[in-house]
Amino acid sequence: MKILSDYSLDELQVELADFPKFRAKQIFDAIIQSKDYSDIALPKDMINKLKENYILKPIEIYKTLVGKDGTKKYLLKLYDENLIECVFLHQSYGNTICMSTQVGCRMGCKFCASTLNGLIRNLTAGEMLSTIALVNADNGKSNTRNFTNIVLMGSGEPFDNYANVVKWLDLITDKNGFNVSERNISISTCGLVDKIYEFSKLNYNITLCVSLHATTDEIRRTIMPIANRYTINEIVEALKQYVKENSRRVVFEYCLIKDVNDREEDIINLKKITAHLLCHVNVICLNPNGGSLKATTRKEAIDFVNRLNKNGISATLRRSQGEDIAGACGMLRAKSLKQKS
Ligand code: SAH
Repeated sequence: MKILSDYSLDELQVELADFPKFRAKQIFDAIIQSKDYSDIALPKDMINKLKENYILKPIEIYKTLVGKDGTKKYLLKLYDENLIECVFLHQSYGNTICMSTQVGCRMGCKFCASTLNGLIRNLTAGEMLSTIALVNADNGKSNTRNFTNIVLMGSGEPFDNYANVVKWLDLITDKNGFNVSERNISISTCGLVDKIYEFSKLNYNITLCVSLHATTDEIRRTIMPIANRYTINEIVEALKQYVKENSRRVVFEYCLIKDVNDREEDIINLKKITAHLLCHVNVICLNPNGGSLKATTRKEAIDFVNRLNKNGISATLRRSQGEDIAGACGMLRAKSLKQKS
């Protein structure tokens, strides 16, 4: 079966060439509004033909949790029964959707719940577009855009699903569809250096974020297996290239873990790492997932960020949203998988 949301409007017109041209636009609008066959006015025989080969709505809401702060966490079910997560955050500067790029993840970061059962499969570009459409429709009218920003910070490693993520970028920024500004999209990677170089050349105006989480390769290797493949130096060089090609500030994500990366020497190291790079450090407190890693307290985190700032490093502490509803990456899905087994 093919997924209709994998196609751009132009591609749909070619794919559905057996039908009158305006039908492609009708299908495309249905995708954006998260409609299924039963919700649109199409001739019965056309629907029957389409249903034989194509899935119109590959994703549905399985469970919704609403946090005290209004953060909505979704467990979504794909057409093949796989579950993914998505979060809708209400923010003063516009609502943000945080979404997944893979079912599971194979990067193996020690603190992250998404990777606990490994990678099941990649999401297609259309499944990612349909995720946005579904969550958009659940947060207002389906024919308006009810969000401003999208961050690829859910489950999965976006650059491990590179081709689909790039295709999705074209779909989500398409003027015929959601028309999201590239500037309002952030992609977070654990640091797949070869893909950072490849992506730099495409000149998208998105914000590129790299999960750093340690200031020496030695420590990084103990919490992020990808550090065995690429050094921090190699990441910084690749990011310099990204900044050069795109004139965009890059972001380091830095999740504070007690006695692992919150030491005085980490501040000195961070100063060196960020010294010649147009960048910002986004500090987060670890959301413990039951492993041996402990969180730095919020008070210590505030102090850590203050010390970074005193050292001339652009850094902020990210407000933690949705903590009461298993807010961090993959936690809700992991919980649900556990209950099933
Ligand atoms: N694979 C991508 C996107 C993943 S999630 C990446 O590694 O960047 C987005 C961010 O949440 C990453 O910085 C990730 O390291 C972080 N994260 C994952 N689990 C977390 C946890 N338990 N507490 C705090 N941050 C976490």
